[in-house]
Amino acid sequence: MNQDTSIDSPALHTLRTVFGYEAFRPMQGEIVDQVIAGNDALVLMPTGGGKSLCFQIPALVREGVAIVISPLIALMQDQVAALHQYGIKAAFLNSSLKAQQAAEVERQFSNGELDLLYVAPERLMMSRTLNMLEQSNISLFAIDEAHCVSQWGHDFRPEYIKLSILHERFPTIPRIALTATADEATQREIIERLALQDAKIYNNGFDRPNIQYRISENSGNAREQLYRFIRNEHDGEAGIVYCLSRKKVDDTAAWLSRKGLRALPYHAGHSNDVRQQHQERFLREEGIIIVATIAFGMGIDKPDVRFVAHLNLPKSIEAYYQETGRAGRDGQPSNTWMSYGLQDVITLRQMQEGSDANETFKRNERHKLDSMLGLCELTTCRRQALLRYFGDTLDAPCGNCDNCLSPPETWDATVAAQKALSCVHRTGQRFGVNYLIDVLRGSDADRIKQFGHEKLSTYGIGKDHSAIEWRTLYRQLISRGLLAVDLEGHGGMHLTDASRPVLRGEKKLHLRKVTKKLSSGKQRSKTPFGKAADTKFWDALRDKRKQLATEQGIAAYMIFHDATLMEMVDRRPQTLEQLGHISGIGSKKLEAYGNEFLAVIAEYGEADSDEVNDTTAETIKLVCGGMKPLDIAHKRDLTLNTVYAHLSKAIEQAEIELGDVVDLDEASLKAIRFAIEQNDDGKLKPVFDALGGEFDYGILRCVKSDMRIERQ
Ligand code: ADP
Ligand code: ZN
Repeated sequence: MNQDTSIDSPALHTLRTVFGYEAFRPMQGEIVDQVIAGNDALVLMPTGGGKSLCFQIPALVREGVAIVISPLIALMQDQVAALHQYGIKAAFLNSSLKAQQAAEVERQFSNGELDLLYVAPERLMMSRTLNMLEQSNISLFAIDEAHCVSQWGHDFRPEYIKLSILHERFPTIPRIALTATADEATQREIIERLALQDAKIYNNGFDRPNIQYRISENSGNAREQLYRFIRNEHDGEAGIVYCLSRKKVDDTAAWLSRKGLRALPYHAGHSNDVRQQHQERFLREEGIIIVATIAFGMGIDKPDVRFVAHLNLPKSIEAYYQETGRAGRDGQPSNTWMSYGLQDVITLRQMQEGSDANETFKRNERHKLDSMLGLCELTTCRRQALLRYFGDTLDAPCGNCDNCLSPPETWDATVAAQKALSCVHRTGQRFGVNYLIDVLRGSDADRIKQFGHEKLSTYGIGKDHSAIEWRTLYRQLISRGLLAVDLEGHGGMHLTDASRPVLRGEKKLHLRKVTKKLSSGKQRSKTPFGKAADTKFWDALRDKRKQLATEQGIAAYMIFHDATLMEMVDRRPQTLEQLGHISGIGSKKLEAYGNEFLAVIAEYGEADSDEVNDTTAETIKLVCGGMKPLDIAHKRDLTLNTVYAHLSKAIEQAEIELGDVVDLDEASLKAIRFAIEQNDDGKLKPVFDALGGEFDYGILRCVKSDMRIERQ
């Protein structure tokens, strides 16, 4: 690892020391350089791509205060709190502050005590604020969520249009506009409205490679499948479950809670207080599942949402992509899971056809729903299709969606489709699916006899398929537009023009075969680790993180991201210096939390005891041969921590003596023993602290083992 910072550029140096990251991601470095050099940039990067650093690093490198414009007032406080954790001087100005608090921020700003100031656009536009900026040294303007200038988009903010004033009043100050959602038309709009004609455009596409896509059909037990999905793959992790109706939200949250999961409901029918409280818990605590209508999510910036599940079909690919996009902002593997069924398709078709919007609008909506249904029934790579929809291309199948991981079988459904369609025709194009299936399968229900349908040529011709298979087929026919749903809301169906070629045998239909179980892709284990000892260690690290976060009233991820804790599990650092090499641990966090985490590592970061037994002998042999623990660790490619674990065990079992391992003078030994006696709760952290951090945990452990032996 290159720690010779003298040859680093100031940007790289800041990345490493402040944020604790080793290298820029592709494009980040270029963007940062561009802005530091005083030029404008337009950045299109998917969620989790690392947009924040693109302006935070220039903000730290350039002279003056960076102004960050964001429409998401609710997030500013968290963003600023997260920056404080890195030791960065940041503050925010928006309507949530009391006059006195705002005055204090303005004072800090004017005194040059800040590196970054987050401002809501309406606040920025006040002439008082603009005047204040004019009298100060501004390093750059960052315009976050830049797509909000688009009048056609769903997040339009009128104040954003006025931001072109920045260019007029501050022509020499670089501006960087950032967004995760902008098709080409929106990009042009951003450039024009923000006067970014000279900006260099950085387009990183839309792909979210860490997100796995899975879509499965609901064959009647979606809730149970959801529960198993969460338990098997995301136990104890945070996630969002989307449902269409408020009632389903409440029912599902209650059901999941009864099954022992920590699930909270969220929808517009709850009071502000309840919503606030549930959202807050979701953000702050670990492992909360929010069950919500689509009212939930705008401006949710939680990086460690590990899964997003849909119990209903979203009404467009845009909605699906935005909602699933809330998973895995931290770049760690995350899952999206959706279950949809015949009823979803019917409901959405009805809602849309029945709306009294004008015909153009309806046609547009119909097209969107068709695309969504097409994605569901797809038999090839889902990610390729998703990206294609947004005008992006992915050359090869992704390998991280259900269709790639377990390719679905297809079958020639032409004959079955003909039977299903003619049954609709023969019964007069007014019955729903359940009835049609009864006719096809030759049920002796009274209703059929009342209508005399047992005499039809289609009566009983479908016994070769199960009712579930017929439901799937009908769903596929509706999805593909071969059947249309009546508007009366009874689920009656009629043929469309598109069905004729199939009925006449001119067109073949190849469809997805019904899958009995949820087609789960690559199974992620409960934790990212296979071994039980690692799981315990992982839990201990998370507990420590939670404790530190609670003490400060901040979210757990602000202490360390999951990726950072995972690396601790993998590498088991033993000293502050080693800990500092882990990605995501900059100098400020190392100083603030390093010792706390080293203590956890010493306590729990031991390798599996079976494994120790096998290899302890080898370690003992080497130490008896006069080798030092650190050299043994290098030679055997073990962590120092593991080597000390072997050695302390060996001491405890009287295989070797303390003197074989450590070289301590009498005074030091006495001090350590004294400290251990003073702290007889078995924990090493207080001992380590009492000794002012002078002795490594490994040494303390060995002394402790030695004392146990003497006591016997
Ligand atoms: P965005 O704003 O684009 O959604 P963020 O700026 O929140 O993304 O970054 C996403 C995640 O990636 C964060 O956890 C961030 O700390 C991490 N990250 C960003 N840049 C780097 C980098 N160069 N090396 C390692 N991690 C990074
Ligand atoms: Zn794929």
